Amino acid sequence: MNERTLHYRTCPLCEATCGLEVSLEGDTIVRIRGDRDDVFSRGFICPKGSALKHLHEDPDRLRSPLVKRDGRHIEVSWDDAFAEVERLLLPVLEEHGRESVAVYYGNPTVHNHAMTTYAGALVQALGTKQLYSAATVDQMPRHVASGFLYGDPLAFTLPDVDRTHYLLMLGANPFESNGSIATAPDFPGRLQGIRARGGRLVVVDPRHTRTARVADEHLMIRPGGDAAWLAALAQVLFDEHLIDTGPAGEHLDGLDEVRRVVEPFTPEVVERATWIAPEVTRRIARELAAAPTAAVYGRIGTNTVPFGTLASWLTDVVTILTGNLDQPGGMMWAHPAHLPPHRPGPGRGFDIGRRSTRVNGHPEAYGQFPVAALPEEILTPGPGRIRALVTVAGNPARSIPDSTQTEAALAALDVMVSVDPYLNETTRHADVVLPPPSSLQRSHYDLAFYGQSVRNIANYSPALFEADGPAEEEIIARLCLIASGLGAEGDSQIIHDLVLDGALRRAVAPGRPLEGRDLAELRTHLGQRSPADRVLEALVRSGWAGDHFGNNPTGLTMERLEANPHGIDLGPLTSQLPGILRTRSGRIELAAPTIVDDVDRLRRWLHELPDGPVLVSRRHLRSNNSWMHNVEILVKGRDRCTLQVHPADAEAWGLVDGGQARVTSAVGSLVAPVEVTDEIARSVVCLPHGWGHDAPGTRMRVASRRPGVNTNILTDGSNLDVLSGNAVLNGIPVEVTAIPPTVSSTHPED
Ligand code: SF4
Repeated sequence: MNERTLHYRTCPLCEATCGLEVSLEGDTIVRIRGDRDDVFSRGFICPKGSALKHLHEDPDRLRSPLVKRDGRHIEVSWDDAFAEVERLLLPVLEEHGRESVAVYYGNPTVHNHAMTTYAGALVQALGTKQLYSAATVDQMPRHVASGFLYGDPLAFTLPDVDRTHYLLMLGANPFESNGSIATAPDFPGRLQGIRARGGRLVVVDPRHTRTARVADEHLMIRPGGDAAWLAALAQVLFDEHLIDTGPAGEHLDGLDEVRRVVEPFTPEVVERATWIAPEVTRRIARELAAAPTAAVYGRIGTNTVPFGTLASWLTDVVTILTGNLDQPGGMMWAHPAHLPPHRPGPGRGFDIGRRSTRVNGHPEAYGQFPVAALPEEILTPGPGRIRALVTVAGNPARSIPDSTQTEAALAALDVMVSVDPYLNETTRHADVVLPPPSSLQRSHYDLAFYGQSVRNIANYSPALFEADGPAEEEIIARLCLIASGLGAEGDSQIIHDLVLDGALRRAVAPGRPLEGRDLAELRTHLGQRSPADRVLEALVRSGWAGDHFGNNPTGLTMERLEANPHGIDLGPLTSQLPGILRTRSGRIELAAPTIVDDVDRLRRWLHELPDGPVLVSRRHLRSNNSWMHNVEILVKGRDRCTLQVHPADAEAWGLVDGGQARVTSAVGSLVAPVEVTDEIARSVVCLPHGWGHDAPGTRMRVASRRPGVNTNILTDGSNLDVLSGNAVLNGIPVEVTAIPPTVSSTHPED
């Protein structure tokens, strides 16, 4: 019998970054549980964490590349797969130009330091500006708001949950999601900690979620009403002379302009658009102003609506007006170890719309076009049409609006290449599928999530098993070789050197800790590691906490990270002003004209509110990405893919619990099983997202046995937040009708 060994690593499955303890006997995983010594998560784990074993062992997870022949995917060697990419892609590039190829990055790319560091190289090698990602069905409004306010689209303000006295949380349900754009393992425990130390938690959500159940107060808001309600909070703060901007005030411009634009949003004016009584709005504003510390945190429910950017901006406006920006217990910024020390002074600033989409002129934001516009960019004839697509770790056929149009677009491509471990609803359209290693076959460091973490943490996990095929960075490097004309057989070290030198060049730039050091000399100090780990080493050692290649001997190195498998705690969040500001003025630009100009649209919306039911989305603890629906232990039990309906609506519409309902929107129609529950507001119905696994040509056997219905059949790709291009996935007007039992079906239609 093999001896049992213990291994520690960070869970890559969601933003919480929990520490895992993996027990192996030989190469067999016998148990995964929470790592009690992890400096951040202290043993916390959710059901998905232990399911890593099942994901790793899933027989449906691809181990070899696939190539489509006569409509069927067959396994081929890696060399043949890359040769096929070259054979298909180069003619499109030559005949139709670089802009005829688009890239789509799915959400798992940011859970993986190889992809985080190599993603840009592929786009550069392709020479295209046609970049799309899951960010525009998620958090792009937050990027845009931070970009305009602070000059840096990655300067996410985070609730200091462990020290706050008052947390106002909108459109977030961390009891199911475990936190998002606020990396905080055991988020539920941290929320309960607020109450345990005498603080107050107020949840604003159209659903009485598990998070709302533990709150001191739950306000059922009308879907999409967040921006108007936050504007009303700001109006009350001005009107009642409760403004105290605290230390951030000395770095701030635009206060008077904000006062002017929120003036019309009195609590009475927004009541119909928010369902929140004026006296409650006034009380919450006063409570925020009076609390010793307060954090105003909005997440996906505030982002995936027509005023997502305004809502994100206004969460920070209210934070600033109450003196809670950059203060312990308020909204703060992380300073991840791999980023350099801040450089004081003005930055380059931020803007949107440097380019627009071809068909409907949607502006670019943060270098990306709205993914909701991708299908029309593929389907609409004319010069500049997208003819080839590379997807990486994504399932846009299920995750972006209007799946019917999306699937038609994917089917219409001349060439599609996917880097993905599954043959799913998206990759079934691909000509070539290149499977990356399982997450246990690669090293891990959360470059992205330490930038939004409620403590500053550094934790590196080596790979646990050898990979079946090339590492992710090698796959991307070979795609880069093909795209840049160096050939599938070219030397991928060229690409690895370019990516590494890019990281080192930033480290030696003026004002950086390694200013003036020689790149070639620095390279000689890096360890014999995988290419992605050498890039990581360069970043960690040149970051503010790094050893600066010998200049700071007590700083972080890879060896130090490896010697601390439970992670290194670099302490609570600290004040980052003014160094974090990269605006052109070097100040917080509270009233950037582009944002302020959009407030008029919000004002008009108050008088154009649709009548009738609207659809919202929900998340479940056992799900995150659609491929988790292929893990039996995560999907077993009662059907979770139900249409939640309030009892009074169910009665009015003739629906019964366990029966079927037809839901129809402007773009589609489906039939879903009904769950009658008073956990949802009246006139709101709710479906989870990421389901609909009954398409032919996929290879996800567990998922296809429990397909569920695909909510994105109902969402409309033309409905976007104007500034960020983020898709509107919540507050979709729908019609709901009962289906007589004899003609019922659980499958999506149309
Ligand atoms: S909460 Fe997230 S990081 Fe933690 S175990 Fe679950 S999936 Fe993994």
